[in-house]
Amino acid sequence: MSDFSDTIAAVATGMNQGGIGIIRVSGNQAIPVVDAVFFPKHKGKEVRNLKTYTAAYGTIQNEEKIILDEVIVLVMKAPSSYTKEDVVEIDCHGGIQVMRQILLLLYRKGARPAEPGEFTKRAFLNGRMDLSQAESVMDLISARSEMAASAALSQLKGNLRDKVEELRGKLIRHTALIESALDDPEHYSLEGFPEELDASLEEIEKEMIHLLDTAGDGRRLREGIRTAILGKPNAGKSSVLNVLAGRNRAIVTEIAGTTRDTLEEWISVSGIPLNVIDTAGIRHTEDVVEKIGVDKSLEEMEQADLVLYIVDSSLPVDENDLRIMEALQQKQVVILFNKTDLACGVEQREILSRLDKPFIEVSAKEQSGFDEFYELLKNMFFHGKISYNDEAVVSNIRQQQALQEALASVRMVRKSIADGMPEDFYSIDLMTAYEKLGLIIGEAVEEDLVDTIFREFCMGK
Ligand code: GDP
Repeated sequence: MSDFSDTIAAVATGMNQGGIGIIRVSGNQAIPVVDAVFFPKHKGKEVRNLKTYTAAYGTIQNEEKIILDEVIVLVMKAPSSYTKEDVVEIDCHGGIQVMRQILLLLYRKGARPAEPGEFTKRAFLNGRMDLSQAESVMDLISARSEMAASAALSQLKGNLRDKVEELRGKLIRHTALIESALDDPEHYSLEGFPEELDASLEEIEKEMIHLLDTAGDGRRLREGIRTAILGKPNAGKSSVLNVLAGRNRAIVTEIAGTTRDTLEEWISVSGIPLNVIDTAGIRHTEDVVEKIGVDKSLEEMEQADLVLYIVDSSLPVDENDLRIMEALQQKQVVILFNKTDLACGVEQREILSRLDKPFIEVSAKEQSGFDEFYELLKNMFFHGKISYNDEAVVSNIRQQQALQEALASVRMVRKSIADGMPEDFYSIDLMTAYEKLGLIIGEAVEEDLVDTIFREFCMGK
């Protein structure tokens, strides 16, 4: 248990108008603080008398006995609560003034405003969840596609923690054996041990590499597949975008991009998050390529994970198309051969198939051919997965770095083995790998870093 003496309170549902608002209070004074302001409809239902996980109906009244709202309170006693502390939730009417007044009253009674992410930080510090799970809470809240949500949820279940613990378990057992043998050579023999250790480390290395491979998935899930839509005027760029955004629309928002002229559009396509960049060029009907020149548009394409190149199948493929597609050799390109509802040229098909890039026949007008495109996306970017329910995914750079460092240490041990170094050399690097893996789940993580991580959270979480 933590030694927090202070009790925190915040609106958990967002400080905006809504049907109801939930104010969450956590800490060892949570029950007396709410008890002082809550007046139950039925005697005996005072907060102090409520059993854990039970609710009561009544009013919140200020010092002058003026009723601020009719509410329901819910008590969750330590340690079976989100923070492992006593938690009281107040279900009030979701008006900004109502919530503000109740909060101010709670502050006067001894609670203090919670910092962003402080509830989850307490959950982490009190051992309710490890750091990778805590990070997934925010990923879940901010997930903008079904896939991103499923990956976050799988982390919240502890999939990454379990994998990390498993690897650490192996490393510590090897270290323990070496240490015992060095201390007590009569009873423990290291005969044949280096070979055995090497074989085990080879497996561990493979698992770490596999886990590192998921880091790209993690980034794309959080940030979306950065997608650029390119093609000549009238090829059907905006029509394709409309099909992607429209039919499968989950969330479509516009946010200002990094440069003045670019816009980014978030689309959830069949559960896959796409972050379409440079839609400014798509919106204005004039062609991006002609407007800013081939070189400049290629430069912009550098930022993209995926380039969708739209070709009008009813017109001949020309030099400009070919130049751009040539220049995009290094990129992940999908050619969408659009307008296949019109008569399309055999010749174009031939030219495109020579480019060694997947091309899919679609018709934005008839909305046909897109299922094949979605399948292709899953294969290109998410190893064909539909969801991440039982997968351990490395979801951010912090976790990725720790894992990379752990991998480097494992490789050092294997090098020492190959070089025929004495056994006591192994344990130092084994322990480093163990510690670096520990950073992922938040073991021995510096306080500053913990603060930085939770500061990114939203209020009331
Ligand atoms: P952009 O300039 O590349 O953004 O092209 P638009 O999306 O504005 O489309 C140009 C024209 O082609 C419009 O008149 C669309 O209605 C038409 N168009 C787009 N996609 C298709 C398609 O699949 N079939 C047909 N027949 N017309 C299409």
